[in-house]
Amino acid sequence: MYRKFTADRIFNGYDFLPGGSVLLLNESAVVQDIVPIADAGDDVEALPGMLMPGMVNAHCHIELSHLKNKIDRHSGLVDFVLSLMSKRASFEDAKEQAMRDAADELLKSGTVAVGDICNGTDSISLKRHSPLYWHNFIELTGFVESTAIQRMDEGKRVLRSFRNELPQFPSGLSPHAAYSVSPALFELLNVETDGALISIHNQETTGEDLFISEGRGDLLRLYQHLGIDISSYRPTGKSSLQSWLPYLHRGQKIISVHNSFTSEADIAYQAGHTDLHRDFYYCTCPGANLFIEERMPDLYAMWISGCRMLVGTDSYASNDSLNLWHEVRRIRSTFPDIPEQSVLQWVTSQAAEAFNISERYGSFHKGSQPGIVQVHNDEARLVMH
Ligand SMILES: [Zn+2]
Repeated sequence: MYRKFTADRIFNGYDFLPGGSVLLLNESAVVQDIVPIADAGDDVEALPGMLMPGMVNAHCHIELSHLKNKIDRHSGLVDFVLSLMSKRASFEDAKEQAMRDAADELLKSGTVAVGDICNGTDSISLKRHSPLYWHNFIELTGFVESTAIQRMDEGKRVLRSFRNELPQFPSGLSPHAAYSVSPALFELLNVETDGALISIHNQETTGEDLFISEGRGDLLRLYQHLGIDISSYRPTGKSSLQSWLPYLHRGQKIISVHNSFTSEADIAYQAGHTDLHRDFYYCTCPGANLFIEERMPDLYAMWISGCRMLVGTDSYASNDSLNLWHEVRRIRSTFPDIPEQSVLQWVTSQAAEAFNISERYGSFHKGSQPGIVQVHNDEARLVMH
């Protein structure tokens, strides 16, 4: 046995292990066994605090890392998006290094796997030799119906690059959001993502429901600014989630991201339409929601309704760090009634299940290799990977 660890508490991805449990690992950090300390023999390393499996960050945009401290906070979503669009092509020289620094931060603070949104191929070079696991969501936008085929072709081109150059990681297409993807593009995406894992930004701002349902509100300003004619848009009379979900009915596994304004009616609607999709996860990014809109989703309502939950940092454009433990802290302090164990599952076993990587990641079981994270003084660090 190469290393033997015990700690004040050990969370195995699902539950806390009995006190005095010892984690036995080989030199590649593959879990060999979990035994009582009486059976562990010599050389047991006792660490203060808690040990847990490496964390899974379910929503990130690593390609936006060069926008750290470049975008104003509390501006609301429309001004955030406009600012992002005007600045994302700047600071080009700093891009590669910023992505590498961000990936280092992810790993050091205990994240081992990432659901990463990609609009282009910028992040491929970073990912080629990365110790992190990357699930790449190639994101499509296009609210003008007539551009749907062209946007799909562009997305497929990017997807081909990812699949050719990063065969070790899964990559697939995903819609950006209900307010930025036309019905025609949704229909093309539905066909292309048959049975696949996809991600979509959902109800991040109050204006999203207003726009989708009634065709008015702050999001109109976005299209005015961009000079895009959306006069052909037909409001649905329904909330955003209830408008986009029916487009994706080919057994997709769906990660709905943000959900800041998702209502109990939306939660009930999703729960009542499980015939459409294979699995559904709500991913929360508290740091980004507070940065942009100063509003957190009602995670308690989701948890008490039995929703499956994930956690993401979003990008440096809308967060001060990519430290997933800081998001866990925000959730714990805002929603003290959600059990600690549940929130820890969201960043470990539940997330590994969402990304189809449970065999290796998200829990301590014989043969898993999830990375060992120590949480001490409310900070997380990767001990071994
Ligand atoms: Zn995002």
